[in-house]
Amino acid sequence: MKIIQAKAAGFCMGVRRAMDTVLEEARRRRKPVMTYGPLIHNPQVIEVLDGKGIRVLGRGRSREPEGTVVIRAHGATPAEKEELIRCGYEVVDATCPHVIHIQRLLTRHVEQGDSVLIIGDPGHAEVEGLLGFARGRGFAVNTEAEVAALPELERVCVVSQTTQSQERFDRLLGLIQKRWPECVVYRTICDSTNRRQEETVEIARAVDAMIVVGGKNSANTVRLAQLAAETGTLTFHVENSSQLDFPRLRGVKTIGLTAGASTPNWMIVDLAERLEEFSRRESSAPKWVLFDLVEFFLNSHLYIAFGVVCAVYGCSSLLGLPFRPLAAAVAALYVFGLSSLDVRPDGEYRTGAKGYFIDPPRWRFYQQWGPALTLLGGTSLIAALILSAFISLPALCLTFLVESLAALLRLSPAPGRFIPYVRHRRLIDLPGGKDVFTGTAWAVLLTLLPSVAAASPFGPFSPPVWTGLSIQRFVAYAVTFLFVFSLVFIRSVVTDFRDIQGDQIIGRETIPVVLGKDYTKTLLAVLTGVLLLAMIIVTAGDALTPLGYFMIFPLLYTWGYLYIYHRRLMKPGMAFEALIGGKFILIGILALLQRACA
Ligand code: SF4
Repeated sequence: MKIIQAKAAGFCMGVRRAMDTVLEEARRRRKPVMTYGPLIHNPQVIEVLDGKGIRVLGRGRSREPEGTVVIRAHGATPAEKEELIRCGYEVVDATCPHVIHIQRLLTRHVEQGDSVLIIGDPGHAEVEGLLGFARGRGFAVNTEAEVAALPELERVCVVSQTTQSQERFDRLLGLIQKRWPECVVYRTICDSTNRRQEETVEIARAVDAMIVVGGKNSANTVRLAQLAAETGTLTFHVENSSQLDFPRLRGVKTIGLTAGASTPNWMIVDLAERLEEFSRRESSAPKWVLFDLVEFFLNSHLYIAFGVVCAVYGCSSLLGLPFRPLAAAVAALYVFGLSSLDVRPDGEYRTGAKGYFIDPPRWRFYQQWGPALTLLGGTSLIAALILSAFISLPALCLTFLVESLAALLRLSPAPGRFIPYVRHRRLIDLPGGKDVFTGTAWAVLLTLLPSVAAASPFGPFSPPVWTGLSIQRFVAYAVTFLFVFSLVFIRSVVTDFRDIQGDQIIGRETIPVVLGKDYTKTLLAVLTGVLLLAMIIVTAGDALTPLGYFMIFPLLYTWGYLYIYHRRLMKPGMAFEALIGGKFILIGILALLQRACA
């Protein structure tokens, strides 16, 4: 079964912006935060926001004027905004810029004495808001009969609801132009809506069944489902994966998947993954068994542990040290153990439904394998300590240091009763805390452990590695340390990109959440560039072995997947996970190649 997922599925710019605004306000303020009407038409998201204390302030309801009210992407009428301010609320306007543009057009035309026709659903919040800007000179029309029933008007200006269907807009506009040939027309259907609708129709025509995910009360999602059904393709409109009638998909060869502008990413990822799983079960047994094994290898962190072994081999070669399998085993056990014990620093995958909002497939995996991985994780960390003692005393100290640091960062610094007043309960919860710590721990183990192991191959009492360290050698260690740190840091931040919607919902402050996606992408690209230069200069100065030149490829590889992510050329999932972890295996392969060529 082939699954075609729409590129334009999920939150549009306006909804994402409104959601970011609400979550940012909730993060910053101690006072209640409310939205003026439901933020989006998606019951599951509203439920999650409610759980975070973000309530919906009903229009016209009696109000307790305390706190911040966020105007959602649809906007509100000027009178409603004034009323909220008069009542004493702090008002934050998250109206979508496209809607603001229409509001300004209407204000201008009304001031010139024109009448305004809005082609849209009367009663929809955006249309109601626009009518408010028309100051009594506006009419909402959605059917031929409503156009026919319009009174005689002199000068007319026509706009549309941003999520109106193009076909209906053209049809009603034709009727309006017959009555008012001189009318001024603004085509204000949002690009995002247009693209989403066009793509939905295009995919629906090419597949055997179409699935539209999103709230049943979301006008734009309902419209997508209508458009798909009108192509004659079997169409399912579901709010989440549990509503999908999978048996009806038996025998279907291609499936299309799209989502409304108010559908969060995790719901799309969840549905796509359930479809993949269904498709696998429908295929031959050897194929799905193989696929399940690959999935297990990736999700259980065995893949990344293998990458660590490869990277230890590469770093040893880069520093001109012999490869010590014991050092590689300690580093791999540490990474595997810590990742298995607590895949997220705060254990969201394990402690309940929170993990579902970050990465539903992995959350399910942990629900299934959690106890076994906890046992294996704990055993691995103990095994790493024991094995490091066989290398040398400094190796044991290093391993003990990184393991103690991992535990320390996860401890809450404040006693229980003060916890509500402490914003970041643990150091790892600081923005970037997890990324910086993970990068540092890997860099310590991958750079220093091979050195310690090389200096003392036979026992615990050999001299420490830093004996007789020259400046050139120091530079080599520093650049290798920075190299490993940066690659791990970038991988960690890229997974934060993928999880950003879920992280915002559950209140995790990652670097992309705090800095924003664009700044973070620039930061990662610059970091990679600086590293590339440093690697070339230090290798040219003979501080590193010639393998340093080969290490340009993992850095170019990193730029490559940052670009793939930026251009959305690959959807998040197993393949992307394999891609971003692949650079560590590449380091090992390059080291092998260089040794073979030398
Ligand atoms: Fe803004 Fe378009 Fe989204 Fe409406 S559909 S909120 S106009 S981006």
